[in-house]
Amino acid sequence: APQNYDVVIVGSGGAGLAAAIQAHDEGAHVVIIEKMPTIGGNTIKASVGMNAAETRFQKIKGIEDSKELFYEETLKGGKFKNNPELLREFVELAPEAIEWLAAKEIELNDITITGGMSIDRTHRPEDRSAVGGFLISGLVKNVNKRDIEVLLETSVAEILYENGAVTGVKVVDEYNDSRILNAKSVIVATGGFSANREMVVKYRPELDGFVTTNHKGATGSGIAMLQKIGADTVDMGEIQIHPTVEQTTSYLISESIRGGGAILVSQAGKRFYNEMETRDKVSAEIIALPEKSAWVIFDEQVRANNKAADEYIAKGFVLSAPTPEELAVKLNMNPVALTETLERYNLFVVEKKDEDFGRTTALRHPLNKGPFFAIRIAPGVHHTMGGVVINTDTAVLDAQKQPITGAWAAGEVAGGIHGANRIGGNAVADIIIFGILAGRNAAALAKR
Ligand code: ADP
Repeated sequence: APQNYDVVIVGSGGAGLAAAIQAHDEGAHVVIIEKMPTIGGNTIKASVGMNAAETRFQKIKGIEDSKELFYEETLKGGKFKNNPELLREFVELAPEAIEWLAAKEIELNDITITGGMSIDRTHRPEDRSAVGGFLISGLVKNVNKRDIEVLLETSVAEILYENGAVTGVKVVDEYNDSRILNAKSVIVATGGFSANREMVVKYRPELDGFVTTNHKGATGSGIAMLQKIGADTVDMGEIQIHPTVEQTTSYLISESIRGGGAILVSQAGKRFYNEMETRDKVSAEIIALPEKSAWVIFDEQVRANNKAADEYIAKGFVLSAPTPEELAVKLNMNPVALTETLERYNLFVVEKKDEDFGRTTALRHPLNKGPFFAIRIAPGVHHTMGGVVINTDTAVLDAQKQPITGAWAAGEVAGGIHGANRIGGNAVADIIIFGILAGRNAAALAKR
């Protein structure tokens, strides 16, 4: 016999977990369906943090910021392709989302910066560790505390739709048995499609052969299922490549390393671009180098301020040496070139002016304290900005811009918020902000 719920949540990344918690707290009977054997989706790999402007934690640190500036910088970073209503809502609700998390003992009270932003507004855990693991473990604790049901190794194969409204889902479990779950609201929080090479290449043929930073489950199945019941899509060709991916492991080297003061250097031992530019631009400059790769270079001070750096060292792909000259030798690089590059950059830090490439942010301190570190990187497929069309209630829209009753979407599966280029720190903000909204609205519909 079919089981009955108020709200079915498809996907256990940040968007799905936030939605489930909120819907439960609104009094709905909810279930989370996850096709992989573990919870957390691609969110668990999120590195740098969660952007928000005018937050309590910024105030405590004396950081002056405005929602308006956050809006403008995100729009500019997205090449003015972002959906203005969604972006407005996003910027408006971001500080509340930071507080929503804090109230659940998920405090993001340390603050850093990412490419394309002019102000420290990327919120991260106090110990400066990667945000993804911290966020997922905190959300899972909240899910468990509420006894919210989670079905792992179970995928949603179809969203059921009858007489103009969603009626539930068909799920297939690990034994390949399928059954029906009834629900008036289905929240699709299945993430993006970066790990679906066929789909990526369909929209962007030139990305064939690129590695991806994403987990295996990022296949875009939610988009296909929603299209089947009439959902419209937007910006499907807007696929972000992240500039700094370690190629042997597909491991993402967090923007927080550059945000903490690291630079990018070519095989010739020279800087070649403003490291704090947006991801699309930095990626393009790396691909334009003869070797199509570059080195992230940092010193002991950067390492000491960033937990992620120790994680990379433990993974075994960081080269290090007591002096820049010795490091250069290890990189098959001209030692004089690297030493000169560091000296020149250090001068810019002191003068607070990058005369070569106009870097204005994260000129933290001179890179002059050994040991020195290097990681070889090149771009990789990282985020799919496009997806299904939603309105500011997270209702999924059809081609006539009409909501499909009972269909909700939040997180990377939805398109429009980031336009043509997502800013680092805006994906975590996206999933929490719109996850909460989806949970609230889906619960309200189900209880009507
Ligand atoms: P977001 O960042 O938007 O929350 P994530 O990638 O973190 O997205 O999480 C999406 C989750 O949805 C992943 O764990 C993925 O395995 C899961 N998922 C994707 N498609 C399905 C499906 N058809 N049925 C169940 N789970 C799915």
